[in-house]
Amino acid sequence: MKLSLAVRSLVLAFSLSVLAGCGGGSSGKGNTINLGTLLPLVGTEQQTMLFVREEEKMARDVYTTLYNQWADPTFYNIATKSEQKHMDSVKAMLDNLGIADPVVSDATGAFTNTAIAGLYSQLLTRGAVSLNEALAVGAYIEEYDIVDVQHAKDEIIAGSNQLPIIQTYDNLICGSRNHLRSFVGSIQAGGTVYTAQILTQAEVDAIVNTPSEKCGL
Ligand code: ZN
Ligand code: ZN
Repeated sequence: MKLSLAVRSLVLAFSLSVLAGCGGGSSGKGNTINLGTLLPLVGTEQQTMLFVREEEKMARDVYTTLYNQWADPTFYNIATKSEQKHMDSVKAMLDNLGIADPVVSDATGAFTNTAIAGLYSQLLTRGAVSLNEALAVGAYIEEYDIVDVQHAKDEIIAGSNQLPIIQTYDNLICGSRNHLRSFVGSIQAGGTVYTAQILTQAEVDAIVNTPSEKCGL
């Protein structure tokens, strides 16, 4: 009895600390994944996680900027409701692992990784051309994220193999599939046929022809 009580309070303390750890900047609910105590990353897993953290920020910042430009609510909802949560969930993993956050400024367009900074300005140039191009930029980012985060997930499975990290990456991929559905839906509603940009057309079709999913974040 005593033992089980002790275990219960430990679990409770754990859940509380996880909830407290992911509150900053997120719009509402906490991370539903209990990270527990993550084990040190191996190989290039850390480098990849840092990249994913800034990649999620790039998505948020591009959509925020394109919303200001085109006032299309798709950008606003995805940036504020979802990409911010994606950013927060990667930060929760970095904090848990004691890894310094590459996001040193939350300002729109501030990046540590120069490749991401370059891609950010390229995509904004393209998105300034027309609303249709802006929506295509959104779809591009989501295709890009699906490929990249799947790679990050595969790397963890082959490496330190930690379930909470795999689940977190899965949630990001799930969110990206929903975002791709939104952007492609808006493009097609405008009468334009969407052509896959990074994934194969069959992969894109398989996603956009299935209903929106409830993801873990
Ligand atoms: Zn995302
Ligand atoms: Zn997204």
